[in-house]
Amino acid sequence: MNRRDTLKFVLGATAFATSAGILGRGAAFAQATPAFKLPPLGYDYSALEPHIDTATMGFHHKNHHNAFIGNLNGLVDKYPDLATKKIEDILSNLSAVPDAVRTPVRNNLGGHWNHTYFWQLMTPGGAKAPTAEVKSAIDGAFGDVDKMKAAFKQAGLTRFGSGWAWLAVDKNRKLTVFNTPYQDTPHMDVGAKPILGIDVWEHAYYLKHQYRRGDYIEAWWNVVNWDKVAANFKAAMA
Ligand code: MN
Repeated sequence: MNRRDTLKFVLGATAFATSAGILGRGAAFAQATPAFKLPPLGYDYSALEPHIDTATMGFHHKNHHNAFIGNLNGLVDKYPDLATKKIEDILSNLSAVPDAVRTPVRNNLGGHWNHTYFWQLMTPGGAKAPTAEVKSAIDGAFGDVDKMKAAFKQAGLTRFGSGWAWLAVDKNRKLTVFNTPYQDTPHMDVGAKPILGIDVWEHAYYLKHQYRRGDYIEAWWNVVNWDKVAANFKAAMA
């Protein structure tokens, strides 16, 4: 090997190591395909304007959500079940996750589940109101849709610090609202089946609304995908 060949070899190895690093795996060459991938939004970052702004959507998806993906791919070697078990099954039984990885699994798998769910709950040009079936369940539990929205907003506002607010079917098959801290999901302690949820971390609204979390929650109703909510409701009641 002459000097030029040596240089080529070193450069080649560096390029390979870098591409393995992008996959988020500790062991280079072990896996060609990462276990977790950032799911596409299904619409453009600008599609929810003016209610949810383009910059927030971009950072939220490409940076915040993608950080969970990278972290999860880094955890697969330590906890291989992560790549094979159903996400909801892991989240609803966190005590079965080994102590050494339980907290990062809780945070990152929860974050991945929450955000994947959240992107699907929004759509440009969606229906402006719940379907008849969902409306009837909301009326039964809260009185009317506006009262549900007020309770949901309160759940979001009273989550101190970071977390999520949810509208979910509880164990008695009735709609309820509550919030969860950090990236906890409704599967964890509550055991409820969500049909609607909002990210109330500051990163979800600060660029547009600064400290006004309530304004963000109210603007968000304009982009809710009520067809998806109806499908979630059907699945939760099945
Ligand atoms: Mn978020």
